[in-house]
Amino acid sequence: MAEATKTHVVILGAGVIGLTIAHVLTEGEGAERFKVTIVARDMPEDLSSQGFASPWAGANWSPMQYDERLHQWEKHTFDKLWDLIPTGQVLKLPSKIFFETDDAEGAAWWKDIVRDFHVLPAEFALPANTKCGVQFHTVSVDPGRYLLSLKSTLVRRGVEFKKQRVVSLNEVGAIAGIGGIVVNASSLGARSLIGVEDTKMYPIRGQTIAAYAPNAKEFITVIPNPPKPSDVMYLIPRPSSPPGMVLIGGTFEANNWDTSVDFATAKGILNRAKALVPALAEPETRILSHNVGLRPAREGGPRVEAEFVELPSKGELVPRLTEVADNSEPKKMLVVHAYGFGPAGYQQSWGAAEEAVRILKANL
Ligand code: FAD
Repeated sequence: MAEATKTHVVILGAGVIGLTIAHVLTEGEGAERFKVTIVARDMPEDLSSQGFASPWAGANWSPMQYDERLHQWEKHTFDKLWDLIPTGQVLKLPSKIFFETDDAEGAAWWKDIVRDFHVLPAEFALPANTKCGVQFHTVSVDPGRYLLSLKSTLVRRGVEFKKQRVVSLNEVGAIAGIGGIVVNASSLGARSLIGVEDTKMYPIRGQTIAAYAPNAKEFITVIPNPPKPSDVMYLIPRPSSPPGMVLIGGTFEANNWDTSVDFATAKGILNRAKALVPALAEPETRILSHNVGLRPAREGGPRVEAEFVELPSKGELVPRLTEVADNSEPKKMLVVHAYGFGPAGYQQSWGAAEEAVRILKANL
């Protein structure tokens, strides 16, 4: 198809969501209809930037809260990641979850998503204060390797990457041009992007420790009773070469924008993890880094929907970029929003991206 007749889709955001949407758009039937550009302040190679969430994730599939819409995305994403295990990008992860309540089977609404699920036998030596547990296989990725591999596939497919901070939808609309489409995958950026200004967006601060712990081979977490939303204990082994990289968490602090490391918190995280995973106390274990990332959460859950927005929008707060943009008559542009995935952007990525692309195509 001639370049000039393609629909230009500009995706704002190069986190796991923007990249996965670009993947879905550029594969399969109809992919040749689209020219895709990704515009973002933080790119997959900016792995130490705290300006986006994706480098700081666990990043595994683990149960959050039941919601029918998210359940479908999570099931689909799990299957997709499971199929990627042979590529080495995804680790097949033996897992245990312990509960401080005594109904393991009832608590596990997610047992049809993971593989090899069963309740631990009564004779299993449970950790202190827990009453039951379950065992299963899940998946994890190394965020850095995974994001870079998504990007390199997209580059091979002809997707262009433009590193730029934008302040308003006008700038993205101007790049898309007449007849173009914008996908807004800007996560926490949606809060202050002029033309979106979604004040339902808020951060959930997560402090973690990355470590080399070759004998900690299982995903382990405890579900407390009553729930303690701000402190969660989890250990997630990741695919690495040589094997042995783990992420130890962590905190879950809603509305906390602080991206600095708190060492009293780090001590608490390490002590809780050591009590649960004896392999962490072995001499080979080494701390590699202390991290803080902000999960891009949204009141009411993720926003994946279409909106027709009049662009360029005008007003005294809107940056005056070019005379063309300022003088041109506003036109309705299709904007597909895909943001607000909070603590679960990886585990919902493929399901949500396919829904975003379905919505985009339905509104063409
Ligand atoms: P982001 O990764 O935040 O990317 C946003 C993109 O938009 C970036 O490229 C940014 O530069 C760009 N952008 C924003 N504003 C602008 C602007 N104005 N101009 C230009 N570009 C802009 N998820 C899981 O599924 N499993 C886990 O185990 C897991 N663990 C986590 C643990 C921690 C500690 C944290 C912090 C997160 C965890 N998450 C996990 C959540 C996951 O990281 C996020 O849900 C996911 O990364 C969100 O991806 P995103 O693409 O929506 O946003």
